[in-house]
Amino acid sequence: MEPIKGYLFDLDGTMYAGTEPIHAAVDFVNELEATGFPYLFVTNNASMTQQQVADKLISMGVHVKAERVLTSAMATAHYIEKMSPGATVYMIGEQGLRIALEERGFHVTDEAKADYVVIGLDRHITYEKLAKAAIAIRSGARFISTNGDIAIPTERGLLPGNGALTSVLTVTTEKEPFFIGKPEPVMIDIALEMIGLQKGDVVMVGDNYHTDILFGINGGIRTLHVNSGVHGPAFIQEQEKLPTYMVESLDEWKHEKKG
Ligand SMILES: [Mg+2]
Repeated sequence: MEPIKGYLFDLDGTMYAGTEPIHAAVDFVNELEATGFPYLFVTNNASMTQQQVADKLISMGVHVKAERVLTSAMATAHYIEKMSPGATVYMIGEQGLRIALEERGFHVTDEAKADYVVIGLDRHITYEKLAKAAIAIRSGARFISTNGDIAIPTERGLLPGNGALTSVLTVTTEKEPFFIGKPEPVMIDIALEMIGLQKGDVVMVGDNYHTDILFGINGGIRTLHVNSGVHGPAFIQEQEKLPTYMVESLDEWKHEKKG
């Protein structure tokens, strides 16, 4: 195996559980930061801005700067810019998505007429927003969804995720969106560009087989499963394609690496 030159980290279930930091992960990342070792947080969350994600990590004791964060909203804006710079976009989503699009210079319109329709988690979604998006998609707009997460973990339990909201548009327009977030591999290339490494150099660290581990497998990079989140070892061992590595926590990984 080639030496590891960088890490990509999931957030919820990997760095923290809801509002509680996962100390082994916080310590591990702080050590990377202190030694200047490349890493990046890769999140499907499209509602928060890059800075808001960094602030949340900082509040949990992670010494991180905003440029260490890649959200699916940022990746969506990056992707559309590559395909069609200057396109008009109709969006359903929150501040994280709006700012990511505006930072790349896109015209975000309120009209049901646009080159692209982009949907990200929107906790103020209305029938009118869905109606406009549906009209635009039926009129030929390209349909993009920041991520397909069917549910999101909250203090109240699992609530509808962006994949669930996206499904309303899919059903009514009979068009499938192009998904940006994990487990689709789109964010791998953007992440590697941001940290200046190649596929063989990096390891994706995450707790969720369906998103993080398949993201790494689909994108052709190594994966490290941690047992601090949604999927435990028994579930992982049942899968056809296994993660490259699996540990209880990043404390164990640190010790293994040091022999
Ligand atoms: Mg997770």
